[in-house]
Amino acid sequence: MALDFSLTDEQKQLQQLARRFAREQVAPVAKENDEQARVPWELVEQLYEIGLLNISVPEAAGGLGLGLVEEVIIGEELGWADMGFYTIPMASELGITPILLAGSEEQQKRFLGPLTERPSLASFALSEPGNGSDAAALRTRAVRDGDHYVISGTKMWISNAKEADFNVVFATLNPEMRHKGVIAIVVENDREGVSFNKIHGKMGQRAAPTYEIIYDDVRVPAENLLGDEQSGFKIAMLTLDKTRIPVAAGSVGVARRALDEAAKYALEREAFGRPIADFQAIQFKLANMKIGLETARIYTLYAAWLADRGDPAHISASAVAKAYASEIAFEAANEAIQTLGGYGYVNDFPVEKLLRDAKLNQIYEGTNEIQRIIIARDILRALK
Ligand SMILES: Cc1cc2nc3c(=O)[nH]c(=O)nc-3n(C[C@H](O)[C@H](O)[C@H](O)COP(=O)(O)OP(=O)(O)OC[C@H]3O[C@@H](n4cnc5c(N)ncnc54)[C@H](O)[C@@H]3O)c2cc1C
Repeated sequence: MALDFSLTDEQKQLQQLARRFAREQVAPVAKENDEQARVPWELVEQLYEIGLLNISVPEAAGGLGLGLVEEVIIGEELGWADMGFYTIPMASELGITPILLAGSEEQQKRFLGPLTERPSLASFALSEPGNGSDAAALRTRAVRDGDHYVISGTKMWISNAKEADFNVVFATLNPEMRHKGVIAIVVENDREGVSFNKIHGKMGQRAAPTYEIIYDDVRVPAENLLGDEQSGFKIAMLTLDKTRIPVAAGSVGVARRALDEAAKYALEREAFGRPIADFQAIQFKLANMKIGLETARIYTLYAAWLADRGDPAHISASAVAKAYASEIAFEAANEAIQTLGGYGYVNDFPVEKLLRDAKLNQIYEGTNEIQRIIIARDILRALK
C-alpha cells in the first residue's frame, strides 16, 4: 500500500488556487501580452499576493519551503494559461535553486529572504553568446582581488535578468580548467558595471523577458560565493537536474490546453453535415493528445517526487520528463492547429501560440539532445 497517487488536501487547495488565477487572470491577457511582447508585472504582483511566487524559499528565510511536487502542480496550471508568463516564476525558482543547494544559512537569509517580502525575482546566468550546451566552455571571467571577485564577460538568453534582484552568475577563474575552474556567485543587479540588453524578436513565450547581460569589471564581495572555488559547475548541473522538472510541468499545461481547445472546436465545427468530432481521424488526434498528456503528467510528478525525496534517480527522471513532456506538448499544439484547420493558423484562436511557446521548452534548461545524453549516460552507467 505504499504507492499513493493522491494529492494532499493542501496540494489540492494549491491546485485550485493556481487554476483559478490562471483561468481568471492570466489566460484572458495572454494574447495581448504575446502580441506586444509585454512583461505582465501586475500578474507577478498578483502571484506574489496569493502566495505562489518563489514558493521554494525555505521557512528559515521567511518563505513557504515548498517542494517540486508543489511547483509542478502550479506549473501545469500556469502553463495551461500562458507558458510565456509561467517562465517568469519558473526562471525565478531557477535562480533560487543554486542558493538552496549551496548557500549557507546566512546567504539564504540574505538573498532569499527579500524575495518573500515584496514581489521580486531571481535569475540564473549560465549561458553565453558562444556557449550553451557546452556550459563548461564559459568565458565570463572571475578574478580574485583581496576580499572581492571581479567579474567580466557577457551572459546571453537570461530570463528575468533585469527584473531580478540578483543573478546567480557562473564564471571561470581559469578557462583552461573547464568545469573545475567555474565558480557560482550571486551578483546583485545594482552593482556598478552591470548592464542589460533586452532580446527582441522571440518566436514565442513573448511575455517572458530575456536579456543579454554585460558584466564590466563588476566587484562582488567574496561572501557572495556559493560553495567553494571548485564547486560552481556542479552547482549549475545539480540545479538543472531539478529545475527542468517545472519545464516539463509547464509543457503538460500546454498539452492540456491544446486538447481542451481542439476538443471544444471539434464539437462545434461542422463539415460534410456533421461535427468534425464525429470523424475518427479527429477523434484519434484527441486520443493521442490525451495519451501524451496523461503519461507526461504522471511521469513529471514522479520525477518531482524523486527529487523532493533526494533520490538520485531524479537526475535521469527529470531529463526523461522534460524531453518527453516538451515533445508531446509541441505535438499536441501541432495537432490542435490541424484540428482547427485554417482557424488554427491565425491568432484569433490560441493554438498557434501554443506551438510557438512549446518550442522553447525543447531548447532551454538543456536542449532535448542534452537530455538524451543524460538519459543514455544513466542507462550505460548502470550496465558497466
Ligand atoms: C528564451 C530563452 C530563455 C533562456 N533562459 C535562460 C536562462 O534564464 N539562463 C541561462 O543560463 N540560459 C537560458 N537560455 C539558454 C538556453 O539554456 C540555451 O539556449 C540552451 O542550453 C542551448 O544552448 P545554445 O543555444 O548555445 O545552443 P548550442 O549549445 O549551440 O546547441 C545548438 C544545437 O546543437 C545541439 N548540440 C549541442 N551539443 C550537442 C551534443 N553534444 N550532442 C548532440 N547535440 C548537441 C543542441 O542540442 C542544439 O540543437 C535561454 C534560452 C532562450 C532561447
